[in-house]
Amino acid sequence: MSVSPATSSVPTPQSRILGCLLGGALGDSLGYAVEFDSIDSIRARFGPEGLTSFGQLDGGSHFSDDTQMTLYTVDGLLEALEWANDGVAADETACLWLAYLRWLATQGVETPSSAPVPQPRWIDGHDVLRHRRAPGNACLSGLAGGEMGTAARPVNPDSKGCGTVMRSAPFGLVPHISEAAVYKLSCDGASLTHGHPAARQASGAFSVLIHRIMAGAEVRDAAQHALELIENLPDADPELVKRLQAALDLSGTGSAPGRMLSPEELVAQLGEGWVAEEALAVGLYAVLATEGEQNPVEHFRQAVALSLNHSGDSDSTASIAGNILGARYGEEALPTDWLEALEAPELIRGMGERLIAVTLG
Ligand SMILES: [Mg+2]
Repeated sequence: MSVSPATSSVPTPQSRILGCLLGGALGDSLGYAVEFDSIDSIRARFGPEGLTSFGQLDGGSHFSDDTQMTLYTVDGLLEALEWANDGVAADETACLWLAYLRWLATQGVETPSSAPVPQPRWIDGHDVLRHRRAPGNACLSGLAGGEMGTAARPVNPDSKGCGTVMRSAPFGLVPHISEAAVYKLSCDGASLTHGHPAARQASGAFSVLIHRIMAGAEVRDAAQHALELIENLPDADPELVKRLQAALDLSGTGSAPGRMLSPEELVAQLGEGWVAEEALAVGLYAVLATEGEQNPVEHFRQAVALSLNHSGDSDSTASIAGNILGARYGEEALPTDWLEALEAPELIRGMGERLIAVTLG
């Protein structure tokens, strides 16, 4: 029997947090297997439908920098929240910067002596994070300079790579804070490595999207809201507005279904996903275009497959799609056979449980 998404049970906040982090890691891991492959080479290797399941991968899978940095976003937020619970006001963005500096150290990059030396935390003890899995150049260089980037004093002023948006779901997972606070935290977090407004605003839009879904909104309504928020900014990035609008228009609505784009059409219409606004648009489109009467697990499988089978940045687009669906349905959406193939699930779950303990426990 198929269960309509509209009638499936409402997930708990705990399940949504774990679903978002594990779902993003699943999308990232499957997408990472084909991150730099053209759609022609994906089809040649996996058949006409491309890569649609972990069972097609021999030799296992790894999550990439998208999941690594998402977990370090969680850790930066955790540190700020732990200080707050102890009655000490901490600068959240400084905590994030310290967390990302610890991520930088896992990548074997030295920071200048002017940069602070953060105290190690639980996350830092996991060797599985000490692999270089194609980290973004702006993420590395923006942190390696040792200066804390801000919107007013940006590092990498022209960079709008998707290394911002792909790590920004966790800002939307913190309960009991206002949407304005979520947006600002996410934008400030993006500014630590990327200076272009599109990077900042795409991150903020993604975090607000997740925040709305956590509060019970349907994905389409949450996305429409995030688009309106961006459109009303005095410095709204026109490319971001255009891509988000296209993702909504092309995916149709329940009463007027959109056409399923081919992988070629998808990159022509929404972009390849190497930059922030394109990655968000492709991930969002994949979730919306596959909405239907199927159960959450089937929706998850179909959306992640659509999000990664193209000639663009497959792990980031699939990571974003997985984050969205995990927040929407909770752990119920995660395919069991995929979870069995996931690298270091105890680390991802452990970070989610720490966030739950500090915010909901
Ligand atoms: Mg990656």
